[in-house]
Amino acid sequence: MPDASLEAFRSELVEWLEANCPASLRPGATSTKEDRDSWQQVYIERGYTMPTWPREYGGGGLSKDEARVLSHEMGRFANWVPVASFFGTSMLGPVLLEFGNEEQKKEHLPKIVSCEIQWCQGYSEPGAGSDLASLQTRAVRDGDKYIINGSKIWTTGANNADWIFCLTRTDPDAAKHDGISFILFDLRQPGVTISPIQLISGASEFCQVFFQDVKAEARNLVGTLNGGWTIAKRLLQHERAMLSGGTGGGGERPQAKKGPVPAPTSALAEAARAHLGEKQGQLADYPLRDRIAQNEMDALCFGLTLKRSGEQAKAGQGPGPATSMFKLYASELNKRRSEILMSVRGAAALGWSGDEFTPLDIMETRGWLRSKGNSIEGGTSEVQLNVIAKRVLGLPD
Ligand SMILES: Cc1cc2nc3c(=O)[nH]c(=O)nc-3n(C[C@H](O)[C@H](O)[C@H](O)COP(=O)(O)OP(=O)(O)OC[C@H]3O[C@@H](n4cnc5c(N)ncnc54)[C@H](O)[C@@H]3O)c2cc1C
Repeated sequence: MPDASLEAFRSELVEWLEANCPASLRPGATSTKEDRDSWQQVYIERGYTMPTWPREYGGGGLSKDEARVLSHEMGRFANWVPVASFFGTSMLGPVLLEFGNEEQKKEHLPKIVSCEIQWCQGYSEPGAGSDLASLQTRAVRDGDKYIINGSKIWTTGANNADWIFCLTRTDPDAAKHDGISFILFDLRQPGVTISPIQLISGASEFCQVFFQDVKAEARNLVGTLNGGWTIAKRLLQHERAMLSGGTGGGGERPQAKKGPVPAPTSALAEAARAHLGEKQGQLADYPLRDRIAQNEMDALCFGLTLKRSGEQAKAGQGPGPATSMFKLYASELNKRRSEILMSVRGAAALGWSGDEFTPLDIMETRGWLRSKGNSIEGGTSEVQLNVIAKRVLGLPD
């Protein structure tokens, strides 16, 4: 039976959408930049870029069920949904809600909701990737500031970011997990050097970031001094949930499509039909047909598993180690899907640039190359297997 209060919320929402969503943003229309900008502004004012965050921090104050209604109605109503930066919404935001003090929540969360501040993640270092706790970037207290020296690498989007959430060593004499603190600071200040690194796909969203006597306000240390490892681990769980496209146990799934989990559609089959043709109403290449069917069934089962896990976690706990299972599976599934797409496209899959290839050929070849990073970013597949063995299956070290 439909829940009356939820249905009342739906009617009110539909009325609001009718009144506010510009015509150019309705399905089938072509949106204009002016309309997108004004729609984004209205949407942000309602806190809808993060609908379940509390109102006092700029969010929409909706329940999870109401947020699902919003997501559904937005899918029907608008061809474009404003979203805030995922580093802020999916990683830092949930961590601040759990570990931040009141002042930090009031200062940073509304600016994430309003897309005012773009964040990036300062975890990996040249000598600290999978073994993250080996990090050496130092933060030393000086009055009401920390002075930061060191370098971070593989920092996605640092060249477009305003602020960084950063793991720093604050006690070099403590055991390696015990001397780390989680600090937020402005990237646009003297002493910060950002060098983009080119990816195999040709994009350059990666950077190495150098800090020379960079300053962080002491009030922007989140949690306790030297207690940053606990926060770091929780943030990684949020990252893995986000990368797998699922909640992995209670986290919020914003409306935008995120992470590498492929949609269980027949897009692969359509591409195969276009490139290889049909024989008696079926895809002409039988072995390929099997691979496509297998991949689509796997994607469908994975989607259902994510949904079930989300339902089970309605109680509202944060994400747990099971996010490693989802992250592992989503990465491998997407890589397999990209490989199949390359087989389907044949010689067109060699397109990297040039007029002899269509923009779609080039985009998909680059997408296949980009997918190689799926099993590295957010912790490699091998490391996820270790986490699953230890924390999910309880196997001995
Ligand atoms: C697309 C992309 C985006 C990224 N974005 C960011 C970002 O925004 N911010 C950030 O801080 N970092 C980011 N990273 C870095 C990423 O988190 C690291 O690359 C990752 O943690 C692996 O670390 P590493 O590259 O140092 O490899 P290593 O840790 O040196 O690993 C090398 C190989 O050894 C294996 N290995 C290591 N330890 C073990 C073990 N104990 N058991 C079994 N095998 C092991 C690994 O699986 C891997 O195959 C990004 C990476 C990618 C690819």
